[in-house]
Amino acid sequence: MKGTRVVVTGGAGFIGSYLCERLLRRGAAVVCMDNFLTGSPRNVEHLIGRPAFRLVECDLTEFVHVSGTVDLVLHFASAASPADFLRHPIETLKVGAIGTLHALGLATEKGARFVLASTSEVYGDPLEHPQKETYWGNVNPVGPRSVYDEAKRFAESLTTAYRVSRGAGTGIVRIFNTYGPRMRPHDGRAIPTFIRQALLGEPITVTGDGSQTRSICYVDDTVDGVLALAGSDVTGPVNIGNPVEMSMAELAGTIRDLTGSSSPIRFVERPVDDPAVRRPDTSLAESLLGWRPRVDPVSGLRRTIEWFEEELGSPRSALAH
Ligand code: NAD
Repeated sequence: MKGTRVVVTGGAGFIGSYLCERLLRRGAAVVCMDNFLTGSPRNVEHLIGRPAFRLVECDLTEFVHVSGTVDLVLHFASAASPADFLRHPIETLKVGAIGTLHALGLATEKGARFVLASTSEVYGDPLEHPQKETYWGNVNPVGPRSVYDEAKRFAESLTTAYRVSRGAGTGIVRIFNTYGPRMRPHDGRAIPTFIRQALLGEPITVTGDGSQTRSICYVDDTVDGVLALAGSDVTGPVNIGNPVEMSMAELAGTIRDLTGSSSPIRFVERPVDDPAVRRPDTSLAESLLGWRPRVDPVSGLRRTIEWFEEELGSPRSALAH
């Protein structure tokens, strides 16, 4: 990565900010583009002022221009938490479609490699378990989650069309649930919600009967996987996630234990089209990229809980709103 110039769209978001940081550490110059819809300049404030880092406020769905050379475009702009994409349905569809078109246009114009951040949500409520890249998915095209799932499916299709018909150097990563420090306490995803509730001593709200499963991947591992694919000529899609699978009730119990909380677990209504199971088959990432996750869920959750405690100072007041 040394000496390369990388554009990270959505770079002021949760995963994007770690990508910017890691790329700078590896000696790359980084242009971080974000409209701060769900991200914040705060996520990259420690990078501002470094000569190799540039933060550009821009909406990817508008005209996009970057002067100078670009070697790699990491396209991570998109609301990602269900609460966010349900609040911003049109914006989510637009950034997945028009934003991806613009990011691909930029990569093509510069002769840069392009990597799309796709998602396990392209598998929908999967009928195949664990999910392999060859599985086509089970998505309700008019359900509430479709604004995200279908936008990403379209983005995968567009990325593939640019590769096949225009010879663009592209790669697709299908990222499974990623967590870690810098997630917003109120972003609506299970881990920040459970940690916030546990630290506040509030009931931990598990949806449905809590038997639905997820596989959670620590952000450092996800970033390693993304950069391994970016540095290769693998086209993908390639699953990046941690295959350790747990039920939501188990996850809530683990977080309660790790925080030392006595919060009760409360079961609440399950969202429409919520996937029943989710676990990546990561054999392709292992064989093509030599990548596998290293951080076990308990260590990753410990680090995340520590960050939430520290960041929010006095959790009992700061987390309350
Ligand atoms: P995030 O919401 O923290 O980051 C997304 C960033 O994109 C934000 O900073 C937001 O402001 C920016 N953005 C949104 N629309 C934009 C637009 N039109 N123009 C410019 N910037 C825009 O989410 P995240 O969890 O960091 O996810 C990052 C990417 O990874 C997303 O593309 C998401 O689909 C993908 N992904 C994440 C996960 C996960 O578990 N976190 C899983 C699968 C895929």
